[in-house]
Amino acid sequence: MKQAITACLLCGNTLQPVRSWWQLLSNQLAPTLCEACYSNFEPAQTDALFTYNEAMKAWLNQYKILGDVQLAHSFRTELARALKTTAIIVPIPVHPAKLERRTFAQVDMLLDCAGIRYTHYLCKVEDSTQGLRNRAERLASANPFILAPNKSATGKHFIVFDDIKTTGTTLRQACDILTQAGAASVKTFTLSASEL
Ligand SMILES: [Zn+2]
Repeated sequence: MKQAITACLLCGNTLQPVRSWWQLLSNQLAPTLCEACYSNFEPAQTDALFTYNEAMKAWLNQYKILGDVQLAHSFRTELARALKTTAIIVPIPVHPAKLERRTFAQVDMLLDCAGIRYTHYLCKVEDSTQGLRNRAERLASANPFILAPNKSATGKHFIVFDDIKTTGTTLRQACDILTQAGAASVKTFTLSASEL
């Protein structure tokens, strides 16, 4: 997934080639947005890279709704730096049916482009697959996630990753599953977050 990108992914302006010796040595990923475009994104305070401002809103729309897959490279350098960890990265899963419609796994793709290893410890369960749960479980919780089959979370450290945090409900539900399954610790990190 490591790809040479020579033009800004958002405006198409030519990017200054950065070929310093330390960049080659550290194997760091080169920027994919020009300085002008990049300056529209606002760094977040905690547990997220950026705030959900107008630039991020437009970016998410172009990436997720319009399906501009190439944009997955936009923040690869920052993500690689932020998620340098010994914890297991767990992307928020999309439901398989939804995946078919969208044709690509947007959250996974962000990690792929940043060269970040991750494991799917969670599966998404929706109406059509509610049969996977028994009646008591269905009644007990509205949690759309279950622990992935054949996965043990016991004693492990996790960082749950998603592209956006709004109310935090999705992340909390995902964390609950891992915690209930015996995780030693569960943290979260997102590309963007609304400052509520
Ligand atoms: Zn640009």
